[in-house]
Amino acid sequence: MKTQSKQLETLAIHAGQMPDPTTGAISTPIYLTSTYVQDGPGQHKGYEYSRTQNPTRQALEANLAALEGGSTGFAFASGCAAATTVLHMLRSGDHIVAGDDLYGGTYRIFERVIKQFGIDITYVDPTTPTAFGEALRPSTKLCWVETPTNPLLKLCDIAQVAEICKRKNVWLAVDNTFCTPMLQRPLALGATMVVHSTTKYLNGHSDVVGGVVITSDDEVAERLGFFQNAIGAVPSPVDCFLVLRGAKTLAVRMERHVENAQKVAAWLEAHAAVERVIYPGLPSHPQHALCEKQMRAPGGMVAFVVKPGKKSALERARTMLASTKLFACAESLGGVESLIEHPAIMTHASIPPAVRQKLGITDGLIRASVGIEHVDDLIADLAAALDRE
Ligand SMILES: *Cc1c(COP(=O)(O)O)cnc(C)c1O
Repeated sequence: MKTQSKQLETLAIHAGQMPDPTTGAISTPIYLTSTYVQDGPGQHKGYEYSRTQNPTRQALEANLAALEGGSTGFAFASGCAAATTVLHMLRSGDHIVAGDDLYGGTYRIFERVIKQFGIDITYVDPTTPTAFGEALRPSTKLCWVETPTNPLLKLCDIAQVAEICKRKNVWLAVDNTFCTPMLQRPLALGATMVVHSTTKYLNGHSDVVGGVVITSDDEVAERLGFFQNAIGAVPSPVDCFLVLRGAKTLAVRMERHVENAQKVAAWLEAHAAVERVIYPGLPSHPQHALCEKQMRAPGGMVAFVVKPGKKSALERARTMLASTKLFACAESLGGVESLIEHPAIMTHASIPPAVRQKLGITDGLIRASVGIEHVDDLIADLAAALDRE
């Protein structure tokens, strides 16, 4: 990279990339190779085998590390692979404190994969930073935070939790998938690691599944590097190329996602069929002030609860999701196209009903990933679907 800029818009396009040394190609080539020819045994150019090193992956890792303001990035085959590799840094007998409103797949890794190795997890309310401190034990190695949470868009004060973790020498991992570094930079707020599902906004075009972990902590970087190679859940060079290309437009995409989401949220809040809108950019959000302090902008995700129609809230939600034409009824988020889903039936079905009820993932709750289509079309689509009850 020739640029010395620290501006995220510039880094997104240039960081980690340089013209190909052989041809001058401006785009980083897709190095589809499993191995590299050595001049003699052990005489190589820093590349031995593609699980260990791959130039396309390295460009992506350097790019995303620069955006998050970290020293090192590690790319993975999915966000879940990224999380699982981080959790391999723990040992039997260690303890984790995590926010209680997590991506369903992360919750499943904690409950059904990590626990069976003798690692214990305590869940706390992410809106109360002191709850993390109170849950710490001498064996606590890691705190895990998502903010905004999924699907209820609760915020966690990263700087305050980081302070608590630092005092006790506990790592803090922040899942920054919903914000991307364009809207929130957890390392600057004191987190040890940032985790992403690059499947979402970072790639942004709904055509890749991937993950990344970024850190500036040398010890964590060394261990993550070891586990990335040893476990081997690495992404293909083609996927790395696609995420690298997606990241180039991240700044402009996020701007439009936020602009559209803000308008959609305000429109929903004024609609008679809507009981409640949850969006950190609305003054009605209980943590609106923290949003203004911690996030550059409130993001592209909007959650809302529909009132019961002629039948129940569940039926109105079902009808609405079957009726939208632009908002596709689908899991996932963060792509250019708008998506809409029902957490209780779809993304969060793996959470036991009693736990869902306690958290507020009710029958009337709908989550929308607001895309970058024209906002008038998006609102017209929601209006027509809400009219059918
Ligand atoms: C999607 C998602 C993940 C998991 O990522 P995959 O790429 O689907 O494995 C983790 N955290 C959040 C917040 C997500 O939205």
